[in-house]
Amino acid sequence: MRIACGVIAILVAASRLFAQDVSRDDRIKPEQLGLPKGTQRTSEPFVARVYKVDDVGNFLKKQPDGYPFTLRNDYVLKADEDFRTHQGVDFYFEASKSKPVPVDFNAGVNGVVVKAGDGQWGTITVQIYDGTLIQYLHTTASHVKVGDLVTPETKLGVTGRTGAGKIHLHIQAKDKNGNAISPDLAFRLGQSKLQSKEKPDPTLIDFDPDIYSPVKANVIERKVTAAIKPESKWIVEVIGEGGRVDEVIGEFFDYQSASRCAIAWGDSHPESLKLTREREVKLSVDKK
Ligand SMILES: [Zn+2]
Repeated sequence: MRIACGVIAILVAASRLFAQDVSRDDRIKPEQLGLPKGTQRTSEPFVARVYKVDDVGNFLKKQPDGYPFTLRNDYVLKADEDFRTHQGVDFYFEASKSKPVPVDFNAGVNGVVVKAGDGQWGTITVQIYDGTLIQYLHTTASHVKVGDLVTPETKLGVTGRTGAGKIHLHIQAKDKNGNAISPDLAFRLGQSKLQSKEKPDPTLIDFDPDIYSPVKANVIERKVTAAIKPESKWIVEVIGEGGRVDEVIGEFFDYQSASRCAIAWGDSHPESLKLTREREVKLSVDKK
């Protein structure tokens, strides 16, 4: 009996080390990316942005002044407009008034590099311990190569405007299956140390920043709803002794992703006596 309890105590201690401090409402801060003072968070994930389109509905490569713009209120699209749901967080830095410049940025998370800055959007991708992919877009240069292990302080690359209108850093996140998840959440998960170096997956594609999100804008006729907020989210928790929540390991907008996260945790802790739980939380939809 004594031996069994000892084993449990070690497992609990190991899991504490692994969990670190995961706080629920933290958003990515520019300091975490080593970006200069004065960097601003200019766009939130899962907002609708309106673009000009041509006669056949293709988004214009070069957007006129004032486009794209983010919806703050419900909006009726004009004939030559369409919208996209923005999947990521944008960080913007101006060295002087209205002059954005390329700057170095850090990974901000623990993981392994699976894509090192090539492709249409200059994407650098880091895979964290649970398989989630964090993508840094529009870079002009990479300081890392595929297979490199990174920590939050590792210099990852240089910001740029590859596939974008102006120099900024766009960060988005996908689960293992390519579904968009909150980049802020992925960043919090990425504070946990990588347990083993995962083999970079050569089949990983360059996820289009505008394709597929579980969070969709409501469109009736041509009216786009500004508040793209899901009605509920799923929190994945690790349940320890006495039914106590020992650790929050994820928050998701759909059950499928939450379930996959719970299964992944079980797979990576085969020796653990703990269970995971997926709990649905209703969100109040912001109606302004
Ligand atoms: Zn962006």
